[in-house]
Amino acid sequence: MKLATFKADAGNTGELGAVEGDRVVALGALARDMQDLIARWPTLEAEARRRAAAAERSFPLAGVKLQAPIAKSGKVMAIGLNYADHIAETGAQKPEHQTWFAKMANAINGPYDDVVIPRLSHSVDYEAELVAVIGTGGKHIAKADAKAAVFGYCCGNDVTEREWQKRVSQWIVGKSCDTHAPIGPWIVTADEIPDPHSLGIRCKVNGETRQNSNTRNLIFDIWDQIAFLSEAMTLEPGDLLFTGTPDGVGMAMKPPRFLNDGDVVRVEIDRLGAIEARFVRE
Ligand code: ZN
Repeated sequence: MKLATFKADAGNTGELGAVEGDRVVALGALARDMQDLIARWPTLEAEARRRAAAAERSFPLAGVKLQAPIAKSGKVMAIGLNYADHIAETGAQKPEHQTWFAKMANAINGPYDDVVIPRLSHSVDYEAELVAVIGTGGKHIAKADAKAAVFGYCCGNDVTEREWQKRVSQWIVGKSCDTHAPIGPWIVTADEIPDPHSLGIRCKVNGETRQNSNTRNLIFDIWDQIAFLSEAMTLEPGDLLFTGTPDGVGMAMKPPRFLNDGDVVRVEIDRLGAIEARFVRE
């Protein structure tokens, strides 16, 4: 299933839907929001599928506003330096340990919404990433059980203010500016993605391909990530894991090419769709 949060008209606050072809089917009052739906998915899945098939109330996808599928995730964790080609371009060493940082929930942004370049910023950059959405979650999840801990997947852009990231040892501010975590366009449930480590992933800036790789190039795969993280922290429904970015970021170009007012950045992942944002200066 492709599960979305959408607004059919401007006055609406957003509701849950299932994307079926070029339409989105409203799921009604099935759950309060996406996190609630994910938390209760084992008991709600059959009814969600029934409603999606019945399509009592549906809209053309082109006529609705898609919002971030999850608005306020409890954790937005992101792993750095996780594609060998990206490590080479940044001049870093292949890490012995997983390098995690947080993106705060204020950064979550809709799949087609504008992304803001902060007013004092001169080095905003893109990072196309596969995002894993945690399902029932838990603690001490063994690598062999990690696949079952994932509810689904979506596209993400780990937008980064490079100067604010690089001039200090803690990346959190440079990674957490408002709007700097666009996700979507919807969550594709894990049953439709039997192998998340074989998906083409691309980033285009104004139509020019800047990143073009495959999730098979992850150094620490998603199961490694979940096994490690869940030793430290309880993973909860709707937590988001940004799983790393391949080479081709603007910072590594010679000379570096950061994003400017009006640039359009598109992240595409096989089987998941695409998100696209216009970057606008604050
Ligand atoms: Zn990243």
